[in-house]
Amino acid sequence: MKKALVCGAGGFIGGHLVNRLKEEGYYVVGIDLKENEYGNGNADEFVLGDLRDPSVVRDVIKSDMDEIYQLAADMGGAGYVFTGDNDSAIMHNSALCNLNVLEEARIKGVNKVFYSSSACMYPEYNQLDPENPKCSEDSAYPAAPDSEYGWEKLFSERLYLAYNRNYGMEVRVARFHNIFGPQGTWEGGREKAPAALCRKASEAEDGGEIEVWGDGEQTRSFLIVDECVDGIRRLMESDFVGPVNLGSEEMLSINGFAEMIIKISGKDLRIKNIPGPEGVRGRNSDNDLIGEKLNWKPSEPLINGLERTYNWINEQVRQRDAVKD
Ligand code: NAD
Repeated sequence: MKKALVCGAGGFIGGHLVNRLKEEGYYVVGIDLKENEYGNGNADEFVLGDLRDPSVVRDVIKSDMDEIYQLAADMGGAGYVFTGDNDSAIMHNSALCNLNVLEEARIKGVNKVFYSSSACMYPEYNQLDPENPKCSEDSAYPAAPDSEYGWEKLFSERLYLAYNRNYGMEVRVARFHNIFGPQGTWEGGREKAPAALCRKASEAEDGGEIEVWGDGEQTRSFLIVDECVDGIRRLMESDFVGPVNLGSEEMLSINGFAEMIIKISGKDLRIKNIPGPEGVRGRNSDNDLIGEKLNWKPSEPLINGLERTYNWINEQVRQRDAVKD
């Protein structure tokens, strides 16, 4: 039986990854600062611990582990990442997690380590035109991410690649593009646009409105979490190091995305665009490389995953409000 460590198992993608590894027959150890809040706590062992602390990392990484998936990061949606208020925490906390995990993996001889980078590492100058963003893997340099979150991701990517070159570690690096789905943060300030918009539509009265940050013309693509986990596993099973984009090429404007959610909600809602942190003007995954190397592409259209996500968040809102009443 293969043994894997999932760092960030209390989080959204980490929780789904734990489930997937369990389905595949792995023995899974999870670690996070917090338990998984949304019921994805299926690891065989779960350690509540802080990966910034080298002694915690020393205890949790064991030499009999076959694989490590490093998804722990200090992160959130635009309201957390783009305001500037959390820049030092994001850089300090996430870099320490990566430095500690990778070094301890090397010491213990755990050779195969996955790292979750982000499309936020791509240069802002290639993402100014909402209709024609450029996010091919080879467009990363000259580097100019628009957030410190993106800079930390770029630094850590380079760290993993250096361990690959210098120590022969089999690292795998994927750049996620807006992953969404059920069992993720949907309120509290760290939620990302898909969950926030689903929550707003769920909370709105029929005939009312929902607020969308920016003019709504900024473009993005969104990938449902099951497809992301599938891509992670496929990358791990391959001999391709990356970095490689893991996302959808189904690009749409944020207002278009909000309209899709409104339609799913079945309500008559208007969009109210308000000033707010919004990130780059345009972003889309470029899937040429992942298609070529892993023969991977999303298997479902966005709308399917969005329906599942809206229904889950709608249920969370209903349960929360039932407790309040
Ligand atoms: P998440 O916030 O739900 O999960 C991250 C987890 O890391 C959290 O549960 C958090 O408690 C944990 N963590 C943070 N600091 C820690 C520490 N010091 N010690 C232990 N655990 C710690 O986020 P997610 O959406 O599941 O993202 C997982 C990874 O994918 C992150 O590295 C993120 O940067 C990356 N990513 C996500 C997206 C996306 O759209 N969700 C896009 C690009 C990249």
